[in-house]
Amino acid sequence: CGIVGAVGAMECTPFLLSGLQTLEYRGYDSAGLAVLNEHGALCRARAKGRVSELESRVAEQGVAGRVGIAHTRWATHGVPAERNAHPHISGGLAVVHNGIIENYEALREQLQGLGYAFTSDTDTETIAHLIQACFKGQLGEPAENLFSAVQCAVKHLKGAFALAVVSEEEPGSENEPCLVVAREGSPLMLGVGEHGHYAASDASALLSVTRRMVYLENGDVARLTANAIELVNGAGEPVKREVVTSRLSA
Ligand code: GLU
Repeated sequence: CGIVGAVGAMECTPFLLSGLQTLEYRGYDSAGLAVLNEHGALCRARAKGRVSELESRVAEQGVAGRVGIAHTRWATHGVPAERNAHPHISGGLAVVHNGIIENYEALREQLQGLGYAFTSDTDTETIAHLIQACFKGQLGEPAENLFSAVQCAVKHLKGAFALAVVSEEEPGSENEPCLVVAREGSPLMLGVGEHGHYAASDASALLSVTRRMVYLENGDVARLTANAIELVNGAGEPVKREVVTSRLSA
């Protein structure tokens, strides 16, 4: 239902939690977030119920880092429960998703055949394992990095989605934290801030950090680091999209 993501020079969990709070009005049944900590390890917290419940978990578990993704879920596949809350994980990779993957049953069977074990009843978990399979070259040539793994994975998806992904393994990145996002059908925009880059399913969630936004088009996949945005369209061609200044009031 709601997505926020951030990568930059600052600790990101306060922004992720306040972004989710901004999106609460849209309705949801559970919430979760994942960050890469200072050692590059993936840390996840999830909770059924309110964002305030997630906030307590984050404090208890000491989840902190400079790159992360967060989600409020409105269940479409699988009951509202912590195990079905996003982010969903495959190896060292975590995904949040808005929308519905129509071919998830066929993908799930294919991925189970490749040895992936599922821990939820969601359509979303197939995306996490699919990106991992692309990363490892189980569905063609191994992907060079997370950006190309996500570009490979979205080609297999039918349905509507907005996605945000982080990964512990990011070869060639020299440990520069990055966040990869993609959209088809469901809304997703980027925020250009002073201390980093952001993503959200709704502009209101970005206003606390920036008014400068980039609206993604269907088929777009973007790689965000603290200092740069790299964007390709559905044909895999590098594209530039206009940065617009939002007139919404915070
Ligand atoms: N289809 C996904 C699920 O049920 C995402 C739902 C949403 O957009 O919140 O987990």
